[in-house]
Amino acid sequence: MQDVLVIGAGPAGLSLVAALAEAGLAVQGLALANPAHPWPNTYGIWVDELEDLGLVTFLEHRWKDCVVHVNSATLPLHREYGLLSKDRLQTHWLSQGNKHQVTWHQGKAEQIEHFSTHAQVTTETGKTLTARLVIDASGHQSAFVRRPAAPDLAFQAAYGIVGRFSEPPTQPHQMVLMDYRDDHLTPAQRQEPPTFLYAMDLGDGVYFVEETSLAHHPAISMQALSQRLHQRLRYRGIEVKEIHHVERCLFPMNQSLPDFAQPVVGFGGAASMVHPATGYMVGALLRRGPGLAKAIATSLGTQDTTPTQAAGQAWQALWPADRVRKHYLYLFGLENLMDFDTPQLHQFFATFFGLPTDDWAGFLADSRSLPEVVQAMVGLFGRAPNSVRWGLMRSVFSHGHLLGRTLMS
Ligand SMILES: Cc1cc2nc3c(=O)[nH]c(=O)nc-3n(C[C@H](O)[C@H](O)[C@H](O)COP(=O)(O)OP(=O)(O)OC[C@H]3O[C@@H](n4cnc5c(N)ncnc54)[C@H](O)[C@@H]3O)c2cc1C
Repeated sequence: MQDVLVIGAGPAGLSLVAALAEAGLAVQGLALANPAHPWPNTYGIWVDELEDLGLVTFLEHRWKDCVVHVNSATLPLHREYGLLSKDRLQTHWLSQGNKHQVTWHQGKAEQIEHFSTHAQVTTETGKTLTARLVIDASGHQSAFVRRPAAPDLAFQAAYGIVGRFSEPPTQPHQMVLMDYRDDHLTPAQRQEPPTFLYAMDLGDGVYFVEETSLAHHPAISMQALSQRLHQRLRYRGIEVKEIHHVERCLFPMNQSLPDFAQPVVGFGGAASMVHPATGYMVGALLRRGPGLAKAIATSLGTQDTTPTQAAGQAWQALWPADRVRKHYLYLFGLENLMDFDTPQLHQFFATFFGLPTDDWAGFLADSRSLPEVVQAMVGLFGRAPNSVRWGLMRSVFSHGHLLGRTLMS
């Protein structure tokens, strides 16, 4: 019998299959389509996150000139950003798996049954697959990972176009992380939830422009985002000349953490790994996958470990207590961002990106310890204007339970 079956062939599934195979386990994968089928999304990441992992060769674009437009100013970020080469990354992970005889099956997982020695997955066509442990990497809408329902699920939503334009939508060779300028909106529109432009120069006269809602409950509609993107471009005198690709982005930011006492293990969107205050997740997959794979190899390699015990140890490796505490702090951050009005949001981001780079970078990448993140947040409070401080203090009353989980869980 195989050791592990992974459901899903997105970045979470493919990266974990490769890591599990490298850790010496017999692995099989189950995907809706051929696992080499191109991923639909565009994945951005900070270059230093990949440098730390020795994976910079998997970038297809890099920008040294990265800015945010907030508070009527353009702030240079002094940090390099990149777009992943999805083809190269997929090929790399698939060939790592092939090297270790990973088998891929095609089909939709419909049911998982758990037995004392193994689990059995049944697909919608009735095919059955067995393994000692099943990992669900089927994304944010996972049907198999149990978790408490989140009462007010907030979504990141974005509508983007890759194409050619009558005028460059960014400065040459530039990446705009957030352009929160709203002078193109009517006074009534300015009262609506704010959205920002994420944009980059892809070279050869091609640009990616995306109108983004960082987080909102309920989700901002694609129609509203598309309308805002075109309004923003028109106001700047920019016409869309050619559309090469349209990206529609929608995923939950504050999904509850899974129940860690269940026999199915999750990874990626299925395991609530998206950073609740930013929406980024790929860096977390790359950093946390190999550790999870090693923990699974160790527990399955220990005599008499039952699948349920192995699953419990895997969840602990993925979500140790310290990481759970930080997660609640980021959720608190998300609630603040959603509660700020537009001027507060501008002032908050101007203060945030004015912190020492290591502080804001560590918060975004979730690469610092809880005390370090807390210290950076205290620094932010000290530097912030009164309106932002007031917003943060108000949040302590309305969302203090999240801070409580940070300090006590
Ligand atoms: C448009 C978009 C842009 C994003 N951009 C970024 C970014 O720039 N940087 C970043 O860090 N994060 C980004 N994210 C957030 C996050 O990294 C992505 O959502 C990421 O794709 C999640 O990876 P995943 O493998 O968990 O899920 P998915 O990518 O959704 O992959 C899940 C896979 O499981 C398969 N599947 C589902 N159900 C079943 C089933 N029952 N049986 C078999 N297979 C199944 C699906 O077909 C799919 O292949 C973005 C998200 C979106 C939607």
